[in-house]
Amino acid sequence: MSTSVLVINCGSSSIKYALVSEHRKDRIFGLAENLGSANARIKGITTGGEELELSIPHADHEKALETILERLAHHNPQAIGHRVVHGGTLTKAELLTPEIIERIREATPLAPLHNPAHLVGIEATIRLFPHLPQVAVFDTAFHQTMPAHAYRYALPKFLYTEHNVRRYGFHGTSHAYVSERGSELAGSYKKGGWLTAHLGNGSSTCAIWNGQSVDTSMGLTPLEGVVMGTRSGDVDPSIHSFLASNLGWDIYKIDKMLNSQSGLLGLSDLSNDMRTLIEASEQGNEDATLAIEVFCYRLAKSLAGLSCGLPRIDGLFFTGGIGENSAYIREKTVAYLPHFGFNLSQEQNNSLKRGTEGRIDAGTGPQIWVVPTDEEGRIAKETEHVALQEGNVTAKKSNAETVTA
Ligand code: ADP
Repeated sequence: MSTSVLVINCGSSSIKYALVSEHRKDRIFGLAENLGSANARIKGITTGGEELELSIPHADHEKALETILERLAHHNPQAIGHRVVHGGTLTKAELLTPEIIERIREATPLAPLHNPAHLVGIEATIRLFPHLPQVAVFDTAFHQTMPAHAYRYALPKFLYTEHNVRRYGFHGTSHAYVSERGSELAGSYKKGGWLTAHLGNGSSTCAIWNGQSVDTSMGLTPLEGVVMGTRSGDVDPSIHSFLASNLGWDIYKIDKMLNSQSGLLGLSDLSNDMRTLIEASEQGNEDATLAIEVFCYRLAKSLAGLSCGLPRIDGLFFTGGIGENSAYIREKTVAYLPHFGFNLSQEQNNSLKRGTEGRIDAGTGPQIWVVPTDEEGRIAKETEHVALQEGNVTAKKSNAETVTA
């Protein structure tokens, strides 16, 4: 049977969607944005590969989902996969039952911006399509294989046992896909020790041993780790008391600064966008040059740190908007890791075009690959795996009746 899965990623005022079909390389995808406002609209690519722009004034999540599904109904999606940022301690993709929805709700304090928006989307799609099996695929799940010495903070024990304060890690869908695909390309599918660098607006690194995450750079929240577009990554936690005591800032102001005004944007005082910074640096902007240098140095430092989780290093995979597209950032990062034996081929590195996978090392030392991420494809695959098993479809029908009763 040819299957197609609708992948949905609900934000607070937007919904990204993609219809992923077993036999279609070209995907139907789009974005509903500005939901709840007069400018609400859907932008996307239609079946024929044409651009779509549809105004849906004042549409909420439910109305937007209804419109999206109406337009896609003739493709007969057999399941819906929801990207959910935080699954707490859930270890794998789950069929959406009232119990799993409750677990997502319980994880809300750990992802206060994301999980409530996902729940709005989940509840709307269940109301609209009660008989379609629906699955939650968690950004955190891949990292649940981390050992305790990687996921525990050196904080009083009760904060972990009573309040779930620990490292969870994010971007799991991307790290899982890229390490699986990369190790396959390298001829050792899900075997050996690999480092991944997912570099987009949000960035994170991961160490993977025999296909399982053993450590990652993000922690309790996506703020920990490497330098990102607007997020600081690691800082001395005493910065909170320093800013409160000396500048009189409250916790919300500090949190906003660390999440939205720091990272590349904060360092450069110019932009969170790597392309803009590379251009500015080429024109002599010293703040942009420093922002890029800090980004690459801290990234290399994170990869070196994560390597402690691996018995050996077989190689490194770059992905995400920056990792896939910027030969310059890849080169600068690898240049900080010569003691690991990484040896980049400049020619291979420079010749890779956008969206292409390929090997970029010079043939000595650990391998280095660029592997374009495919989070939608991975979510669709996991959704299909969970939802289209015969028993689950039947189970879903009775669960849907419970949910919508
Ligand atoms: P998101 O995390 O929002 O999915 P992306 O993975 O699309 O983001 O990555 C966005 C980042 O990729 C931006 O900083 C952008 O400047 C950067 N980027 C895209 N193309 C290039 C390029 N050719 N060179 C350098 N950076 C690039």
